Amino acid sequence: MKEAIIIRYCEIHLKGKNRGYFEKLLKENIKNSLNGFDYKFTVLHSRYLIEDFNENDYVAITEKLHKIAGIHTYSRAYVVDSDFESIFNACKVLCEGKFGSFKVETNRADKFFTPNSVETSRLIGGRLIEIYGKNIYVNIKEPSFVVNIDIREDGKTFVYTDTIHCMSGMPVGSAGRGLLLISGGIDSPVAGYMTIKRGMKLDCLHFHSFPYTGEAAKEKVIELTRRIGEYNGGINLYIVSFTHIQEAIHEKCPEEYMITMMRRFMMRIAERLSKKIGCQAVITGESLGQVASQTIESITSSNSVIESQPVLRPLICFDKNEIIDISKKIDTFETSILPYEDCCTVFLPKFPSIKPNLDRVIKSEKNLDVESLIEEAMANMEIHHL
Ligand code: ATP
Ligand code: MG
Repeated sequence: MKEAIIIRYCEIHLKGKNRGYFEKLLKENIKNSLNGFDYKFTVLHSRYLIEDFNENDYVAITEKLHKIAGIHTYSRAYVVDSDFESIFNACKVLCEGKFGSFKVETNRADKFFTPNSVETSRLIGGRLIEIYGKNIYVNIKEPSFVVNIDIREDGKTFVYTDTIHCMSGMPVGSAGRGLLLISGGIDSPVAGYMTIKRGMKLDCLHFHSFPYTGEAAKEKVIELTRRIGEYNGGINLYIVSFTHIQEAIHEKCPEEYMITMMRRFMMRIAERLSKKIGCQAVITGESLGQVASQTIESITSSNSVIESQPVLRPLICFDKNEIIDISKKIDTFETSILPYEDCCTVFLPKFPSIKPNLDRVIKSEKNLDVESLIEEAMANMEIHHL
């Protein structure tokens, strides 16, 4: 019997006239992600089918599906012609070796198919009991497994037991391009994942402070970015040296404003790079009140230097525990907690200002040649294609 992986989307259903655009993009993203595998790809009424795949590739293929934004669920199914006997045969094979309670659930998109869905479930359930009655019994309310029969419009029926949830969201590329400020911490990779999930294609920017932060710290960020890149269809990481900027701030500005000033430089550089490489937004992993640099006053101070692009902060209202849960789910947590320095922990003041006064910040910044510090940093960027 023919088997297929049936892929479903969700929010794309809500799209009106431009639904075709989203469907096509998701199709392309799936194909790009499965590049290298042998299989046949078919589109079937708002579902995508992966057929004729190599059994040994099944796990690897489904692992890929879990990293494609826009896929809501998938099922491994038998695909049969929409006639009662073929459907029953598929159900019979599916229930072989199964034990416990079950129910049959029929969805009849093809309204010309007879009998109707309730009747189909009842008849097939009855015949399954006739064959396997020693092992299985019907429990409509709390079955331990469900035999799903999905009768499609075009003469084909899918028969399957399990529906596996993926990341949902919208296809990458459907929501433009953004530049993620990525540190080695827990939060920014999660912020990146959340933005990708909504269909934004990402590039990443990291600031490092060689020799204050070493090779291992850089490698950690490269590894985190690579992991995020698996959801993004590959990713570019820009690494900017922050050392001279930090030294200048350290030397010429009030100690308690160290972090505030650093943030303002990060934002300025991010905005410039973002525009240069065709991104439309800057993304950070900030969460309101999490640390001194993330009070509303601190955010106001760093936000005020960025003029032409929105700053997206997907985690702004998330608790740390909620962020950690997602970072475990997307497999960045273990890397994030490796103990290497971040540029923000170098020159950390004893008492960072929790409520920086914007006028004073701007005044202190006059001690610095902001423009040439930025130009120098941007002239010596490293780029990694991951
Ligand atoms: P994270 O876990 O993402 O490091 P955090 O809780 O440590 O966040 P901060 O250090 O205040 O918070 O950083 C806030 C945000 O600023 C980060 O989420 C990230 O977007 C950005 N950021 C911090 N350090 C860097 C860096 N070295 N390079 C690029 N962006 C950074
Ligand atoms: Mg950090």
